[in-house]
Amino acid sequence: MKKFDPKKEFIMSKTHNFGAGPCILPQIVFEQASKGVFDPDGGQFNGLSILEISHRSEAFVSIMEEARGLVRELLEVPDNYTVLFLQGGASLGFLINAMNMAGAHRKAGYINTGAWSTKAMKEAKVAGLEVIEIASSSDQNFNYIPKDFEVEELDFIHMTSNNTIFGTQFHDLPKVNVPLVCDMSSDIFSKKIDVSKFDLIYAGAQKNVGPAGATLYIVKNDCLNQSSLKPIPSYLDLNVHAGKDSMFNTPPVFSVYVSMLNLRHLKATGAVAEMEKVNNMKASELYAEIDRNSLFKGTAAKEDRSKMNVTFVLTDESKKEVWDKIWNDANIVGLKGHRSVGGYRASMYNALELESVEVLTKIMRDFEAQYQS
Ligand code: PMP
Repeated sequence: MKKFDPKKEFIMSKTHNFGAGPCILPQIVFEQASKGVFDPDGGQFNGLSILEISHRSEAFVSIMEEARGLVRELLEVPDNYTVLFLQGGASLGFLINAMNMAGAHRKAGYINTGAWSTKAMKEAKVAGLEVIEIASSSDQNFNYIPKDFEVEELDFIHMTSNNTIFGTQFHDLPKVNVPLVCDMSSDIFSKKIDVSKFDLIYAGAQKNVGPAGATLYIVKNDCLNQSSLKPIPSYLDLNVHAGKDSMFNTPPVFSVYVSMLNLRHLKATGAVAEMEKVNNMKASELYAEIDRNSLFKGTAAKEDRSKMNVTFVLTDESKKEVWDKIWNDANIVGLKGHRSVGGYRASMYNALELESVEVLTKIMRDFEAQYQS
């Protein structure tokens, strides 16, 4: 067996972060964020750190406005939608969306594509809705996107655009004739989307937007103040937040600040269209290697494969120790699969560079070559 030493084959100058989050961001954003916290030249905010300025200060109000404006611009959000940065993660979003979107039927349809949709259904029930699982891929451990379902009288349909754990992604939107709500936590800003097809989008920041702490909501104005579950507790009421320009209470200041820096960077480097091109290249390269390489096998149905979270397993488990050493030695982190799927998961969020995928595919090729000679 030929010996392969990745340390000799690459210049190991950086860590390749394939972790599922939080939170990989471009290096330049890390640098800018650190200067916002501590700037030896005097601080950017009248001599203060971003961590100590008032959220009501002119400086922060303008950061919040720029962040909301960049979301609008980068996703081409129509004028009749409101953009908010709130707290609580997508997990609170499960409840917030159900409470705000409840209508006359008090009944919602959920496309169950995995752990996150299952949790969203649970919270909708807590909100008092009748929850109909209109489609599910649980019969095959959520390794595909179910496409056929019937819509009864529903207030809305909920979907999870990308399934972070199981490595599946909607590549076409389901055709629905009721309002569509989407948890876009793990693929927002990774590709162009048509916001007008959704009534409510929500996403935890910590994959493609910024550090954990902020949760992004993009809501059609017609959906505000329409819930049949009134009164909604103030913090859970999107209309309350919309009325206060996302400043109803103390926002997650640092997370919004760094999200703004990251979105500025995204805009300056070709915006979402360019990001989509690079994400397509990264996904094609890795999936091609998984399909070519006799030692690996993808776990998700080919037509539903996620471009953000690539799940795969070894074809021969006895090689696990050797493979784990190889990728660890190649300065790759976060490749271990989620416990419910096993194997490996390569998360390739926007900030993961193509070069990191090239390192991964190279060690996969070299790993196979060891066993062929
Ligand atoms: N939905 C999806 C698709 C996710 O990937 C996650 C977190 N990984 C969540 C919801 C939960 O997000 P949070 O931890 O922000 O509540």
